[in-house]
Amino acid sequence: MSSYNFHQYGYQTYGAGNSNGVPVHPYYMPPQPQAAAPGPVAPQPLALCRWGHCGVPLDDVTGPGIKRHLQQYHAADMPPKSSSGQSQGSSECRWDDGAGTCQTECRSAVAHGRHISTVHLGQGRKVCTFCSKNFSRKDALKRHQEQYCPVLQGYYA
Ligand SMILES: [Zn+2]
Ligand SMILES: [Zn+2]
Ligand SMILES: [Zn+2]
Repeated sequence: MSSYNFHQYGYQTYGAGNSNGVPVHPYYMPPQPQAAAPGPVAPQPLALCRWGHCGVPLDDVTGPGIKRHLQQYHAADMPPKSSSGQSQGSSECRWDDGAGTCQTECRSAVAHGRHISTVHLGQGRKVCTFCSKNFSRKDALKRHQEQYCPVLQGYYA
């Protein structure tokens, strides 16, 4: 079976560790480390696979990336293939966001990957950089920004 580790996130506690029994003047402020740019962020999985009870971290949440995962871990749940490699029929999405299994029928591992990437993981969505509302389509975002975005409308008012 797979053995995957979540990386320990590298949070550090500032200021600790210099109390070696040396009395510190109550008004002495130890030099604070620069609270500048967050250091290198520990790589962390972008999402966890919720297909069935999988729970494996997905490091690639694009359609092709999910497809690879599905083929590796959930091949039995993919639509069967004919001898010529064509997908036959469809199989249902077993992704469970917590509200029950999705059950959307997809006709191939590729379609499942794309479906999961866009529907369940929100990839490829367009985000309004002003108010961070997100949209499934570019034209919906454009309309939002032209007419409805509360931030942009505030600027124009
Ligand atoms: Zn999985
Ligand atoms: Zn689904
Ligand atoms: Zn907006």
